[in-house]
Amino acid sequence: MNNAIPISILNVTDQPSFTSIDENPDINDPKVVEEVLKYIGKAGYHKITDILLFVLPDLIERHVINQDNSIINLRISGDGRNVSRKVKHIIIICTILDDIVNIYKAEHHYTIILFPGNENYILLQKMITPIAHELNDLVLNGLKDLNGTVWKINPYFSSDWKFMAIVLGFNAPNSRYFCPWCFCTKEDIGNRQKVCIIKKNMHQIKPAFFNNNSTVKSPPGHTKPPLLQIISLDYYVSDELHIILRIWDWLWDLAIQELKMKNQLTKTKIIAEMNRIKISFSFWQEQEIQNWSHTSLMGGDKEIVFKNFNFGVVFNEKHTFLINCLWQNFYQLYINMKSNETNPPSQFANQAKKWLDLFFTPSQGEPNTINFKMGLYRPKDVTLYIHVLVNHLPKFMEWHQKFGLGAFSCSPVEKKNHDQVSAFFQKTMKDGGKDIERKSAIFEILHYENRSLYFAQKGTIDKYPKPQHIHVKKKSKN
Ligand SMILES: [Zn+2]
Repeated sequence: MNNAIPISILNVTDQPSFTSIDENPDINDPKVVEEVLKYIGKAGYHKITDILLFVLPDLIERHVINQDNSIINLRISGDGRNVSRKVKHIIIICTILDDIVNIYKAEHHYTIILFPGNENYILLQKMITPIAHELNDLVLNGLKDLNGTVWKINPYFSSDWKFMAIVLGFNAPNSRYFCPWCFCTKEDIGNRQKVCIIKKNMHQIKPAFFNNNSTVKSPPGHTKPPLLQIISLDYYVSDELHIILRIWDWLWDLAIQELKMKNQLTKTKIIAEMNRIKISFSFWQEQEIQNWSHTSLMGGDKEIVFKNFNFGVVFNEKHTFLINCLWQNFYQLYINMKSNETNPPSQFANQAKKWLDLFFTPSQGEPNTINFKMGLYRPKDVTLYIHVLVNHLPKFMEWHQKFGLGAFSCSPVEKKNHDQVSAFFQKTMKDGGKDIERKSAIFEILHYENRSLYFAQKGTIDKYPKPQHIHVKKKSKN
């Protein structure tokens, strides 16, 4: 099996020292952390070509792709898991967008490269270079299979905002020019009069424009050459799930801030309402900052809050009506976003604009009088995620309607990365290293993936030997 998709272990020199990560850890098991740190400077690598050639017969057999119209829509994605606060475990994977029924399954996302390290441009540039070269070749020359058919490769990219910004060589999200797709500035982010359409393209942000002698400069905010230039900028699709989750966090913060300002943060009522909708939730006081923190909810629980949480437990009747509408309408937007068949992009664009109008509901009447009706939020409360939701997601829906925005979700990638790190970076493996002399967790992850792929494909590929005859080949160089 490792002959079909060979595993290489890359050694990366000049690794910059890592700094403390200012985010909550995703994985905190001390045994796992200690092991991951040992692999700094190493990366495991599968060639895209080898992966594609291996999965191709099954895709053809299932009529996902066909030789008469030999096109493969290939999605590349990246994800970094926080392993304690010291390091990230990063994977870059590919999947076949055409295989839409399997797109949500982690096992249909194939690891190209994995490594522990910092999520930064310099390291990612080193790690991604072999992928970029291979992808260029695949896009320019196509993929020739064993029958001589040449497949055209259409590449896409999808990840959370941070990863995508690094790959695009784009500046930090809090910068003045915050959007990789349009020229909107922080000052204009909440300006309802300003029309923000996708205006940039990869040609404008390519290295030629970073040349000091060039008269044409790259657009503001594009501070470094993009790392995967063969992918067209309109094929960089932001992960809709992150947009939803970050907007949830922000709407929740806005509600909590408001309650604090009014001295109405009744924590017991919020906890009781969370319990009513069957969500375990608590507040606690951080000692150093004397501030209240609360449980950070997982995606599924956030959905339930969007749908069912009644802000009537903490706000007055008029204000509750507004806030409940804002949350429930947002949930409806999220549902519509995922079901692009019943909801055309133009309709979604209108719904998103209406939702933003609701977000901007102004106050009415004189403050401190009986008729005063408090509004919601201000233009400066618009975040970059809200900007993308309202201005760009409808366009992505339209362009990539064939697959739907859900096909660009990164949750299977996150799950895969999380599970792989938790399972393989442990001091003692479950089998006690009986069969395999333990040398490299990175190698073992890719080897395990190869075996899983083999089992998944064996229904259609019977020319390979039976599973019990597979032996581990110690191809790892370390
Ligand atoms: Zn924009």
